[in-house]
Amino acid sequence: MTTVELNQVSKHYGPIHAVDRISLRVETGEYATILGPSGSGKTTMLSLIAGIAAPTAGSILIGGRDVTWLPAAQRNVGLVFQSYALFPHMTVFDNVAFPMRVRRTRQVELRHRVDEALALVRLEAFAGRKPHQLSGGQQQRVALARAVVFKPDILLLDEPLGALDRKLREEVRGEIHQLQRRLGITTIMVTHDQDEALSLSDRIVVLHGGRVQQIDTPINAYHRPNSRFVADFLGLANFLEGSLERSGGDCAIRLASGEAVPCAAPAADVAGRVCGVLRPEDIHQWRCARHARRPDRRSRLLRRDGSLCDRARERPAHRGACAGLALAFPGGGRGPSRLGARPDLDPATGERRGVTGASRLALFQGASIGETAVSP
Ligand code: ADP
Ligand code: MG
Repeated sequence: MTTVELNQVSKHYGPIHAVDRISLRVETGEYATILGPSGSGKTTMLSLIAGIAAPTAGSILIGGRDVTWLPAAQRNVGLVFQSYALFPHMTVFDNVAFPMRVRRTRQVELRHRVDEALALVRLEAFAGRKPHQLSGGQQQRVALARAVVFKPDILLLDEPLGALDRKLREEVRGEIHQLQRRLGITTIMVTHDQDEALSLSDRIVVLHGGRVQQIDTPINAYHRPNSRFVADFLGLANFLEGSLERSGGDCAIRLASGEAVPCAAPAADVAGRVCGVLRPEDIHQWRCARHARRPDRRSRLLRRDGSLCDRARERPAHRGACAGLALAFPGGGRGPSRLGARPDLDPATGERRGVTGASRLALFQGASIGETAVSP
């Protein structure tokens, strides 16, 4: 059992709260990703878990054991950094063997383990090469092999793909994923790449200003962000701001324009001024002949700068084209201008009408960036 637990962990550098009262539990075999803008405390958090830095407050447990004051060398943690940090004068074999030599492993076992680790990253044939004879992707795979050769309890990766170009990134990303699944090792990876976090992880931890903003599955964090910051950080978002109205089981956001946009019921303590997020891919095309002849009643699209565009002339034909557009509802809360939970199908033409996405319209309190909605 190798869980990782942080209890109210802080790390202050003078007035800077690099990590601020973080509590988090990563389960055995889980792949958690720490995501956040530059300076949000990601590397500091990883350093605290690895034992490279000591916390100002709080406790850290690995596999249930309190390691808060245990030196890094005794934590049995595998580490991979953005810069491969390979020894340039050593062969691939010797680089991977290094942690085993530090642990004074017998020669036979050492050879066996190194071969095994190199096979895991498919570099058996490169054992005799020096790092400069390898591509960036291969070097990072050597670093991976070196991080797992001594069978660490947990694997920590700090932006391991950051120095690689796009194609190599995808290759090494897949490699890490497979390795993690094969070994079933509890893994915490730091990245500032949203795609990477959303596609690879079991759970993501969004950091901002040293504080946890949300810990959730990628799908929930993306579709049900708990703050405008998380919504904005995890991809393209359309924001609908207004006041929340509840009547019976129904909920709606009353926009400044007076339109009421139906939405899924948010948490009980969300009230008053709210903000909803609608992802571009949740906006579907719709048409309605009757309303198309009456432009004043047509739903129009609202650009981020606040101006309206005519849907007929500026029709977002695909996912990407919707980006940066929000929906405006000048036609009232009924008919095709209604933001429905499901698209209405016109029985006569078979055309989809209306706009889907309301069921996915995540709501949170407050509207300005960085403002956290539901207090954590
Ligand atoms: P990230 O990895 O998310 O970019 P870091 O964890 O490296 O962020 O840094 C978080 C904050 O702590 C930043 O404001 C950074 O300047 C500060 N910081 C990190 N390490 C130190 C240090 N050794 N001394 C002083 N400030 C530091
Ligand atoms: Mg960092």
